[in-house]
Amino acid sequence: VISLEKVEKLYGTFKVLQGVSLNVGSGEKVVICGPSGSGKSTLIRCINGLEDHHGGRISVNGCELTEESRDQIRRAVGMVFQQFNLFPHLTVIENCTLSPIWTLKLPRREAEAKALQYLERVRIADQAHKYPSQLSGGQQQRVAIARSLCMEPQVLLFDEPTSALDPEMVNEVLQTMQELASEGRTMVCVTHEMGFARSVADRIVFMDGGTIAEEATPQEFFSNPKSSRLKDFIGQLR
Ligand code: ATP
Ligand code: MG
Repeated sequence: VISLEKVEKLYGTFKVLQGVSLNVGSGEKVVICGPSGSGKSTLIRCINGLEDHHGGRISVNGCELTEESRDQIRRAVGMVFQQFNLFPHLTVIENCTLSPIWTLKLPRREAEAKALQYLERVRIADQAHKYPSQLSGGQQQRVAIARSLCMEPQVLLFDEPTSALDPEMVNEVLQTMQELASEGRTMVCVTHEMGFARSVADRIVFMDGGTIAEEATPQEFFSNPKSSRLKDFIGQLR
């Protein structure tokens, strides 16, 4: 579904991504981890065109990401952020129906029915008429997940979806993500939740200094890290 070939990205003269190649197949779950500043957020922001890349190729469903295809690709790629990014002046259900109505041109009723269905799925339909500020962080993040599901994306990208949450709310969000994973969705998750990575990921990618330093199955990743950077990284997690 996703194919990255030698993707490069510059901020000024600083090369944040130094030729990253990665393929994600349909239904695959890939976890990306690595030290702060290694380019994880930049990489997934490039995948859905929130950032331009300067070299290499990104394609989604065989369609290369270009200026012209960006809107189309963005529709196929859902994104969940660390800071939820809900619209504060819209209710939960309005957050979930905005893009389906304006971008997919769904009739309001249909968009609302779909939104309720996905809010049900993340077990938050009873909060549909509240504003984001009236919800806990974990609830807000589940709304953000439902909102991206309402666009029926083919791939879901997550950028540290639990790192802004109070510890007691982390699990409800991870559980929701785990349920999505078991439905066979294609997911790319930047996270340091290694329990989640171990149980959900088909592959774990370790980024370091703008490159993929190592890539392995969870089993291999934790039991047999090859680079000393990854050994140090895993050591620090414990
Ligand atoms: P973290 O774990 O802290 O979220 P990350 O792996 O997601 O880190 P990125 O946010 O992708 O890292 O940043 C990679 C590098 O690019 C960092 O050195 C960062 O300072 C730099 N960077 C990120 N965004 C910008 C920007 N808009 N302008 C200039 N430099 C940037
Ligand atoms: Mg980041």
